[in-house]
Amino acid sequence: MPASTIDRRTFFTRAGAAAAALLSLKYISSEALAQTATAEPALVYGQWEDVMRRKWTWDRVVRGSRGINCAGHCAFNVYVKNGIVWREEQQGEYGKAADDTPDWGPRGCQKGVRHAKHMYGKQRVLYPMKRVGERGEGKWQRISWEQATSEIADKFLDHATQSGPDSITFATGTAMVMKRASFAALFRFANSTGLVMPETFAGVGDLPVGAYMTLGHSLPGDNHAAIYKSKCVLVWAANPAATRIPDAHFLWEAKYNGTDVVTIAPDFNATAMHSSRWLNPKPGTDTALAMAMVQTIIADGLIDWAYVREQTDLPFLVRESNGKFLTWGDVAAGEHSDAYCMWDAKSQRVVRAPGSGAKAMGGGPPGAAPQPMPRESLALNGVEPALEGRWTVTTPKVPVEVTTVFAKLKALCDERYTPELSQAITGVHADNTRAVARSSPVRVPA
Ligand code: SF4
Repeated sequence: MPASTIDRRTFFTRAGAAAAALLSLKYISSEALAQTATAEPALVYGQWEDVMRRKWTWDRVVRGSRGINCAGHCAFNVYVKNGIVWREEQQGEYGKAADDTPDWGPRGCQKGVRHAKHMYGKQRVLYPMKRVGERGEGKWQRISWEQATSEIADKFLDHATQSGPDSITFATGTAMVMKRASFAALFRFANSTGLVMPETFAGVGDLPVGAYMTLGHSLPGDNHAAIYKSKCVLVWAANPAATRIPDAHFLWEAKYNGTDVVTIAPDFNATAMHSSRWLNPKPGTDTALAMAMVQTIIADGLIDWAYVREQTDLPFLVRESNGKFLTWGDVAAGEHSDAYCMWDAKSQRVVRAPGSGAKAMGGGPPGAAPQPMPRESLALNGVEPALEGRWTVTTPKVPVEVTTVFAKLKALCDERYTPELSQAITGVHADNTRAVARSSPVRVPA
């Protein structure tokens, strides 16, 4: 009906009804009211709105976990409609690791929520594909499963017979295969054929392997929940709000528990903006900042002296002449010739540092084949290592002037890395450096 044919009564009746309906939905605006004045005929609800309403319906909800990005293995509810993933949401059902820490939820992030895009994206490989162009040229041809498995098996046999099975490496890549039961079949294949299997951690550097060889554990640290109980947390050279999303919440929960969360990064990153404090040294000057903190900690005596004496190399003796460690082999012939030395303040003589040297670590004398445990403990057993001083040690050759690692560290810090000297290097104000160095004081009598 043309607008010109509507009488005044009909117009106001229709416009009033439409406006009332819009108001009830709280979607009214001046533009909408203007449209209702000219709309024809009156709006009927239950049509286009249902498109939106049906978006939030599904056939069933299944469980899934996400680990494609940061290996957090976050648990998700996956909503399935007509056989496809319609949407996803985090599950909030993680428990606690201990009674005095928060639970592990929430885990998951916006990347996990979009996981279905990986399943349905064009980039997903659904069939065996064989490269038919040059490497990097992007030319691929679809082949049958039979052709794919035959060609791979042929290649495998060629290498195994020509060069031996240990010429082939079975690498787990990012270890994503470990999440599936099929990994057992792959490992069995690798074991039964004699392939070389690199240590899983080999793909992420030597830290876990080094920790295992040194300490007997590959992961000697506490879990992320322990952050909650810390007095101070330094987030240094890391940005967990972006790179460790499922565990970053412990940092913010710890702040409610009084923890001082300090981020040290040149940029005001996603973690820095939520931290208690942010130090922004110029890129590449972190060491100078760390040394300035050490200077403050030593100057203020914020040190657990018993820990330092037993668990660190700070009491070890160093030659004044060349800065090299004095070894037990320099002082006395014996099995522990590569061990380090300390000055026992109680007996006023040189002693071997317990737990040092290859033999004490279960490795036998230098050059010998590794020995099994037991390893020698670091326990001092009554020795009182001096941390500062200068001594002349008698050796079979010549007297040697020595001091300690601690004394040299302290002298270096005082000479070159006071917070004021560091400020010229890092750009971080000396007051801020001192404040962070003092933020979790440990004061134990010397
Ligand atoms: S935090 Fe995000 S990216 Fe990491 S595993 Fe969980 S969902 Fe995936």
